Amino acid sequence: MPNLLATGRPSAVIVDSTETTHVVYCSACRASWIYLDAVLAEERATSHRLIERERALPRCSVDGCSEYGVARGLCRPHYDRQRYQARKAAS
Ligand SMILES: [Zn+2]
Ligand SMILES: [Zn+2]
Repeated sequence: MPNLLATGRPSAVIVDSTETTHVVYCSACRASWIYLDAVLAEERATSHRLIERERALPRCSVDGCSEYGVARGLCRPHYDRQRYQARKAAS
């Protein structure tokens, strides 16, 4: 479980509840949803937090690749390939 606070950015998705309505608002993409049900609103907030967290992850820097970066700006397959080629070049 990655620590959200490590990014220096608190969760951007909030639930603003009144007696009758529950508004889910995202300050990152400025989307909002209105629910009459607190449980549904909380579900939407939770799933959207995941979306925003993924969006905040660095992407692979290889052209045409949209995987999330895991190391040195490269996704796992590209990182492995680069390491393999570097090792091959060294020997
Ligand atoms: Zn959003
Ligand atoms: Zn890649």
